[in-house]
Amino acid sequence: MTSYLSITEARRLLVTKKISPLELLTELEQRISTINPKIKAYLSWDHQQARLDAEKADLTKPLGGIPIGIKDAILVQGAPAYSSSRILEGYHAPYDATVIKNLRAAGAYPLGRLNMDEFAMGSSTETSAFHPTYNPWDVSRIPGGSSGGSAAAVAAGIAMATLGSDTGGSIRQPAAFCGCVGMKPTYGRVSRYGLIAFASSLDQIGPLTHTVEDSALLLNAISGVDSHDSTSLLLPKEDFTSEIGQDLKGVRIGIPKEYFVEGIEPGVRTRVEEAIKQMISLGAEPIEISLPHTEYAVSVYYIIVTAEASSNLARYDGVRYGKRSAQTKDLLSLYEQTREEGFGAEVKRRIILGTYVLTSGYYDAYYLRAQKVRRLIRQDFEEAFKKVDLIVSATSPETAFRCGEKINDPLKMYLADIFTIAANLAGICGMSLPCGFASKEGKDLPVGLQLIGPSFGEKMLFRVGHAYQQATEWHTQHPSML
Ligand code: GLN
Repeated sequence: MTSYLSITEARRLLVTKKISPLELLTELEQRISTINPKIKAYLSWDHQQARLDAEKADLTKPLGGIPIGIKDAILVQGAPAYSSSRILEGYHAPYDATVIKNLRAAGAYPLGRLNMDEFAMGSSTETSAFHPTYNPWDVSRIPGGSSGGSAAAVAAGIAMATLGSDTGGSIRQPAAFCGCVGMKPTYGRVSRYGLIAFASSLDQIGPLTHTVEDSALLLNAISGVDSHDSTSLLLPKEDFTSEIGQDLKGVRIGIPKEYFVEGIEPGVRTRVEEAIKQMISLGAEPIEISLPHTEYAVSVYYIIVTAEASSNLARYDGVRYGKRSAQTKDLLSLYEQTREEGFGAEVKRRIILGTYVLTSGYYDAYYLRAQKVRRLIRQDFEEAFKKVDLIVSATSPETAFRCGEKINDPLKMYLADIFTIAANLAGICGMSLPCGFASKEGKDLPVGLQLIGPSFGEKMLFRVGHAYQQATEWHTQHPSML
């Protein structure tokens, strides 16, 4: 009875006492035991702790009794937190991340550790040091990444909702590939305290859900100012559901010409164009816009992200966190061997690249210049948002690719992020929601529609996304293999 329940539906059952929090958890755990071995979304879950949490659930709170799956990069006190890396193996979080504290305050509780690309570096969940995750729509394909476990779990109905993190698309792209809703809030909206850092000027935690309404409910719970994160925004608590239910009359949707170019899979393009038509029929007004610096986004992102990663990951040296190599003779070999054994190939590649772009002789040519172009990308959006309320595009130029298809070609993998990374560079909000299916090699695979909003524009995304979901049924489709 509880498969594929949304938070809203589950809350209704709980509040009317049709089901108890413990029954809800038990049914979910049964499903996890049968389905997780097929897609490997969860790395682990703590049955005992979840039971305790369910037993003391306070149903009067907005998310009372709701279990939320957690990406392995987010700390939950006492639980393993490896960021899917060998170097953190054995590490257990000494405190709750602020988002977890906030979830608990809203009555929800964390359930399980969800697989991801190692330190969130990747677009397929294949760089996880433990195992890949598989796409529930076709297990020969990847679920996207880096929050692939978070998206696959929701899509397969083995989590009602999950948290992921998005540095360059890691919530939105897997949401698109798995057919669920993924939202990256405005930078600073959600505290990063207790998120294992990848690139601190870009990282942002956000929800993955079945519906847009659930996404707003979860953002209500996790967002807010936090004295532990100096980049968290000093804004009063907001109700992100407050514009849900309003129609689309007069909403100006920007269609950026740079996002409708050669190289998009035809099926993806068609679905996105149909979604735009649907929004127009609901009252929205389309306006063609230009984001002229789009072509530089991927290069700028991979300079900034690697520079920040090389600095953030310097702390994993075998002294303080997780793993220490047994093959050490002295202090230097302790650092070297621990890092050699603990990091995977993609993480090493990024540390090397990031260290290079920060080296004094190259700093001006790469890092400084990238920061300047980042400003131009942000200005493109600021200009565009003078004319439109939100921007619409495909989340990814393609549907889910095959396992192994890009893992040995980093450049190809990096290009998978072409439509998502600009929002992170600009610090603005973005959401992916299902807009149909495209057939590839005989399989129907989910297509994601991306809505990009200005800083603090989340309410508009929820309003438009919800109106679209009220008029369509794509979000109610589920994979048949399970
Ligand atoms: N795929 C991108 C990268 O590898 C984005 C990752 C993310 O958002 N965490 O950097």
